Amino acid sequence: MNTPIALETDSLITNLKCPECGTLHNAAVINTVCINPACRSTLFAQYNLTTGINKSVLQGRPATMWRYKEFLPVTDDKNIVTLGEGFTPIIPLQNLNKFAGDNEVLWKDEAGNPTGSFKARGISAAVSKAKELGIEAIATPTAGNAGGALAAYAARADIKAIVYMPKQTPQVFKDECRLYGAQLLEVDGNISDCGKLINEHALLNNWFQVSTLKEPYRLEGKKTMGYEIAEQFNWQLPDVILYPTGGGTGLIGIWKAFDEMEQMGWIGSKRPRMVAVQSESCNGIVAAFNAGKQVSDFADGGFTIANGLRVPKPYADKQILNVLRESKGAALTISDTEMSHSLKEIARYEGMLIAPEGAALWQAFKKLKASQWIKNGEQVLMINTGSGYKYLENIDI
Ligand SMILES: *Cc1c(COP(=O)(O)O)cnc(C)c1O
Ligand SMILES: [Zn+2]
Repeated sequence: MNTPIALETDSLITNLKCPECGTLHNAAVINTVCINPACRSTLFAQYNLTTGINKSVLQGRPATMWRYKEFLPVTDDKNIVTLGEGFTPIIPLQNLNKFAGDNEVLWKDEAGNPTGSFKARGISAAVSKAKELGIEAIATPTAGNAGGALAAYAARADIKAIVYMPKQTPQVFKDECRLYGAQLLEVDGNISDCGKLINEHALLNNWFQVSTLKEPYRLEGKKTMGYEIAEQFNWQLPDVILYPTGGGTGLIGIWKAFDEMEQMGWIGSKRPRMVAVQSESCNGIVAAFNAGKQVSDFADGGFTIANGLRVPKPYADKQILNVLRESKGAALTISDTEMSHSLKEIARYEGMLIAPEGAALWQAFKKLKASQWIKNGEQVLMINTGSGYKYLENIDI
């Protein structure tokens, strides 16, 4: 009989650890944030990375994020809820390349994920683990894309989904939630207002919340972007990664993946400089980074076409700022006018209709190059986090 090799079938998760106070949490039960009342930090899943697992295990695996399943939290494959998310393409700049000088500039294009954004990765991991833990109703506040993803994956898993979304969000984000069968509440306010309201209602109704970084496994799903970047760049990371930062899950996740891969000897110690790009109207991380602060203030200047960036105070602000500083990175804001211009420019010259959040990165690249923060010859990766198709009602065409 062919005995399956444990490493090829099983998650290597050991426990969850608080990055602030070090408290360990049992990964076999439901977790939210650190149980230490003085802390309440986001938790980081830990894996047994000393088993000598070789990256050759990836050969022949499916082209989805689940090819890295040893480093994901689901312990029984039958609980994996997948719609084919991840393993998105790396696409070099083509006609706009003339503005890139001698920099090699590439997209990692997340637009092709189920429900049109990289939120699919985090939600696939979170819903799968929730299913494994027997959770029956999952709720989230959302700026748009997380709600659609949760609604779809919950439908797939036959779990109830509840989504609270700002009334101002484009109609298509609401329609998809309803089509996927989620219970949708349109809230007069921003994502923080949605968060406050859903906290009260979740407590009363026994809904499990997967709000950004208050649940440990969306981070693990988004982390797979880091594994993919390494694999797709042949285990040599780019010099700079530009990331449109809302709650910061992807930024923190990519960084976590790099750490894990270094521990396993899959990559060396060289790291990209990580750049957080925010909207001018919601600039808390940029302001805190530039002021040398540990945490961000609440910053909400109102509407932005990049709904994914309208997060007035990210829950994991401290971890985001840590990544930026450790990586010798940077942080800058882009206006709605610039994003809209950029979105149209990329559509017209690159044939890619990307989300305003992603479009902001192209403007950020040009600024960082002009100021010579990005140096000649450096390889730059921009994470286009979603498709532009859902945003068109706010784009002046
Ligand atoms: C949610 C979202 C973001 C922000 O992602 P975080 O990882 O939470 O910072 C950026 N772009 C799009 C399109 C999003 O939906
Ligand atoms: Zn703690």
